[in-house]
Amino acid sequence: MRIDILTLFPDMCEAVLGDSIIGRARVAGAVEIHCHNIRDYTTDKHGRVDDAPYGGGMGMIMGVQPIYDCYKTLFSEQGKKPHVIYMSPKGKTFNQKKAIELSNREHIVLLCGHYEGIDQRVLDEIVDEEISIGDYVLTGGEMAAVVVTDAVCRMLPGVLSDEVCFTEESHFSGLLEYPQYTRPAEWMGKKVPDVLLSGHHKNIEKWRREQALLTTLEKRPEMLDSASLSAADKKFLESIEYSE
Ligand code: SAM
Repeated sequence: MRIDILTLFPDMCEAVLGDSIIGRARVAGAVEIHCHNIRDYTTDKHGRVDDAPYGGGMGMIMGVQPIYDCYKTLFSEQGKKPHVIYMSPKGKTFNQKKAIELSNREHIVLLCGHYEGIDQRVLDEIVDEEISIGDYVLTGGEMAAVVVTDAVCRMLPGVLSDEVCFTEESHFSGLLEYPQYTRPAEWMGKKVPDVLLSGHHKNIEKWRREQALLTTLEKRPEMLDSASLSAADKKFLESIEYSE
């Protein structure tokens, strides 16, 4: 998969995406990520990329020319239009389902706004969808693009050591993950649950499933309405409700 990030601050994205698991995945060729500086494409002799909003108001708006030329220069020679996403607080809220959906695409472009945003006309021309990472406003789309890139990349083959790393995690199956423990087996009088030390895989699996159900019930009960639950899961949840 290939991800291109169009931004005025490529170093902000590279600082995060060049490190740790995603950084290693890039070196290993499991994913191709390119961060492009929109400013490199401006035709303004002073290097400007923004201007005051028509109609008045605060702040500056990123103009159409550098963004469109950046997009055209990078992608016009390719036969297929990449899927272009504008990182925006007006977009649909990002979630695990969207991360999985995007990880099945060959090529996505993440467009980052800054200042007061981007001239609507270039958005109308090149953008396929808008994604928000939550109901709050950031200074720029870079951190949102990094969040989306990270969540999408870890779904790709070869990025994590094993698929189980994410299929059992929070949100993937519609539940939150069970609690996890590592050595030492006892710390400050608190013991790791005996079942995890038993080596009995079936019992461990059952305990983890039940703990995932319990954690979801406690922290995000509304998720249980759309989770896919077995008869045993439902029985377990009923037993909890009766014991309360
Ligand atoms: N004036 C815009 C508004 O009220 O909708 C906000 C502009 S914001 C200060 C600058 C840029 O940050 C946006 O163009 C967008 O790319 C990015 N951004 C801000 N909040 C975001 C969010 N919650 N999710 C994704 N991108 C966001």
